[in-house]
Amino acid sequence: MEPLQPARGTRDILGEEQRRHAHVIGTARTTAALFGFDEWSTPIFEDTRVFARTLGDTSDVVTKEMYSFADRGGESLTLRPENTAGICRALVTGGLTQSLPQKVFYAGPMFRYERPQKGRYRQFHQIGAELIGAAEPLADAETIALGWDILAKLGLAADVVLELNTLGDAASRDAYRAALVAYFSAHVEHLSADSRDRLARNPLRILDSKDAGDRALVADAPTIAAYLTDEAARFYEAVQNQLGRLGVPFTENPRIVRGLDYYSHTAFEFVTTRLGAQGTVMAGGRYDGLVAEMGGPPTPAIGWAAGIERLSMLLAAAPAAPRPVAIIPLGDAAEAAALALLQSLRQAGVRAEMAYRGNLKRRMERANKIFARAAVILGEDEIARGVGAVKDLETGVQTEVALADIPRMLAI
Ligand code: ATP
Ligand code: MG
Repeated sequence: MEPLQPARGTRDILGEEQRRHAHVIGTARTTAALFGFDEWSTPIFEDTRVFARTLGDTSDVVTKEMYSFADRGGESLTLRPENTAGICRALVTGGLTQSLPQKVFYAGPMFRYERPQKGRYRQFHQIGAELIGAAEPLADAETIALGWDILAKLGLAADVVLELNTLGDAASRDAYRAALVAYFSAHVEHLSADSRDRLARNPLRILDSKDAGDRALVADAPTIAAYLTDEAARFYEAVQNQLGRLGVPFTENPRIVRGLDYYSHTAFEFVTTRLGAQGTVMAGGRYDGLVAEMGGPPTPAIGWAAGIERLSMLLAAAPAAPRPVAIIPLGDAAEAAALALLQSLRQAGVRAEMAYRGNLKRRMERANKIFARAAVILGEDEIARGVGAVKDLETGVQTEVALADIPRMLAI
């Protein structure tokens, strides 16, 4: 039989890679808590309508990337390609549209049927934040500042740039859409097939095309600045001012549009030059229409999502695993005492392990193999005196310590 492999586009996350992921999630979680965001977990699969209705029927995600299937009961379900729709669905389900604002953090796996490559997988993982129920520009600025603080705490401040844009309000977008249609229609023979389709359905999405020919055209396309209503322009200016006060550096990029159809006003990406074509590590924007799409009242909201795999690749070094203490009993009676010591070490917060078999030499080899920082050697004679020999494996220095004092001595 062929050896079994993980499904295409999925990966096992083990050892150092897992510690990188955990570090990203842990840093994000504690930072989100400082900003007043609480963590939610929503189901990994949802009724297909949660995504199909709301992500927009022109988005790549809905048209090409969803893992949808009928379950045994004949219901159409979809593995979540992103978590914003699920969070908004949960807000409505939980009756929380009356208790706004809600500030939500999440972390977990997402699923998209994509062509796998470095930094692009079919199961990948995101952290994300949603601030639901605040229409003020300060909500945008704070949500972006949370993203920035997480990236800075991960040591990535010098590696990423915040690119900011506005998609305006509905009136701005209508005027801009007309300008884009006029421009791209004049060059339609140079557009990719996908973008010709977008021209009819959602011309803004052409700005997000990855096709080289499209990108050349996009470079000279009109920008939204000239089409912003006064109100939309004021909103955008306020976001920029607040970002300044919160200490978040940014540059403007009029080409940023979001991949999904439900955005308005603020759109932004944190990008790096270190990951080739997969350079966007965090992306988000304002989505004032989504909660209503989900059956709730009209509710303003802003949020972002970041790819954990891409952030992990940028981390300078994987966090080290904590080094254990190895307990080495010599003989059966000593092993009985060793079990009590193991447990009291663990209760003191010390990572402690004991090999399941072997003489002194073998157990010492094992202690070195697991990179133990200390070994506690327990002979029958030592046990009788209520002590153990604690050997510092860095210096080789061995000292005799009362059993009761060992956990406190080895606690870090
Ligand atoms: P891209 O343009 O790279 O396809 P996107 O616009 O589809 O990104 P979003 O839906 O905004 O991405 O998701 C937010 C973040 O999640 C991305 O910036 C990226 O870091 C990460 N991400 C998205 N899709 C994948 C994937 N297939 N594999 C790994 N990370 C991903
Ligand atoms: Mg994508």
